[in-house]
Amino acid sequence: MTTETLVGEYFASGTLSGLPTGHFIDGAFVAASGGRTMETFDPGSARPYHAFAAGDGSDVDRAVAAARRAQRAWGRTRASARGAILSRAAELIRAEAARLAVVESLDSGKALQEAEGDVAGAARCFDYYAGAADKIQGDTFPLGADHIGYSIEEPAGVTAHVIPWNYPLSTAARSIAPALAAGCTVVAKPAEQTPLTALMLAGILARAGLPAGACNVVTGTGAEAGGPLVAHPDVRHVTFTGSVPTGIRVMQSAAAHVASVVLELGGKSPVIVMADADMDAAVEGVLGAIYENAGQICSAGSRLVVERGVHAELVGRLAGRAAGLRLGHGLRRPQVGALSSAAHLDKVAGYVEGARARGVTVAAGGERATDPQSGAGWFFQPTILDAVKADDPVIQEEIFGPVLSVQVVDGEEEAVAVANGTDFGLVAGIYTSDFGRAHRMARDIDAGQVYINEYFAGGIEVPFGGNKLSGFGREKGFAALRSYTRTKSLTAKIGGSS
Ligand code: NAD
Repeated sequence: MTTETLVGEYFASGTLSGLPTGHFIDGAFVAASGGRTMETFDPGSARPYHAFAAGDGSDVDRAVAAARRAQRAWGRTRASARGAILSRAAELIRAEAARLAVVESLDSGKALQEAEGDVAGAARCFDYYAGAADKIQGDTFPLGADHIGYSIEEPAGVTAHVIPWNYPLSTAARSIAPALAAGCTVVAKPAEQTPLTALMLAGILARAGLPAGACNVVTGTGAEAGGPLVAHPDVRHVTFTGSVPTGIRVMQSAAAHVASVVLELGGKSPVIVMADADMDAAVEGVLGAIYENAGQICSAGSRLVVERGVHAELVGRLAGRAAGLRLGHGLRRPQVGALSSAAHLDKVAGYVEGARARGVTVAAGGERATDPQSGAGWFFQPTILDAVKADDPVIQEEIFGPVLSVQVVDGEEEAVAVANGTDFGLVAGIYTSDFGRAHRMARDIDAGQVYINEYFAGGIEVPFGGNKLSGFGREKGFAALRSYTRTKSLTAKIGGSS
């Protein structure tokens, strides 16, 4: 079916046919043990459009048991054969890209063209780890002529993947693909706001030839389904992406069974613009860094750290562009889509109201909005808060919406100090035409990733993750595989006297 047909079906009927409703456990879609369902909403219209399984601990138990049964055979499958299945999954994601993108846009509120990019990224992720599967190898150790020593990289076992609502498919893909490549089995728990594309991905993996039980998806709330999953004694590793408080709880649960964790938490990432920067590139970079996905990105460039000499010019240009961005229902391909839920919209609006009450200048936006065609939906105008003090909550706390907070600095040293002046350390952007300065600043910034002269530069090849409250462990690249393997060292005496 084409994108246009699917979009037409949704606007004519208020839903889409053939959406998954059950958990995906042991190779099949199944109802929740308790028979309960919950609704998923279209943020662009603020209406529910589909019911899905509301899982609990008993569903988690079924899924983990299935993953445990599948573990031995999948872990012992030749790595190239595992890679071939992931490669077929990438092909199927591309073949079903139209449907995946429409569902992703509908469930999350994001613009359809961004969802299309996410689907292409998910396919690329499966391609990358398909190729990586048979490059996971051990070492040999120089113990002398009478001994041998070598290591094997074994799969960690059953792994849990707790997925957020801002990038439902791409976050699922970037942790499920390396886990399967390494020979682990998977139980994923998508966010309750956006359960559908993870379920569709599990169906695709089964059609690609993945054995039953190797990838399971349980839907439901964080408390009822996520909690039991990360606390399950048979789960040996947890990859979590989401908020700091939930991440801390997840780590505490995993600690009870000494399961390893990767925490991909929030950020308050600075985009530094020095006076010697290419201003056109900086304008485009800053706009994309904060307004893509309506700012609901852990690595959003939510703070502009700008050198005083170009502050007025840059903020003026950004405010003009922000005011001209077209909001709308995701399926109408707007420049800025909806926020994911009513509660989240309230949170974003609350931050801006608070800043206004403290006397912060609102240089652009600052108000709630709706889809211009329907007058409905959960939208917030692209907003700029200018010349904000370092201790203001809109500088220190993650808003996770289309709100840019500006900090004015004098010189390189202050720019780095201000960039490092929050509890987060996920990413940072630097715009400057001075090569040496760019690399000095990158050296001194406490973040997991630094972009120079292009925000979000990179791809699945580049390790991604945070420092400080932004978490630890790395996803993407070969670094991600380390979370899903355990080194077994073997040493033997093979003869002679030593
Ligand atoms: P959250 O961290 O509570 O939810 C993320 C995921 O964790 C969801 O799948 C949720 O169901 C699950 N979860 C919740 N409680 C759990 C528990 N006790 N055990 C296991 N899993 C649990 O995030 P939220 O409440 O949806 O959003 C709040 C804020 O978090 C946002 O405003 C934003 O600042 C931040 N956030 C960050 C990211 C990111 O990419 N880093 C993504 C989503 C949200």
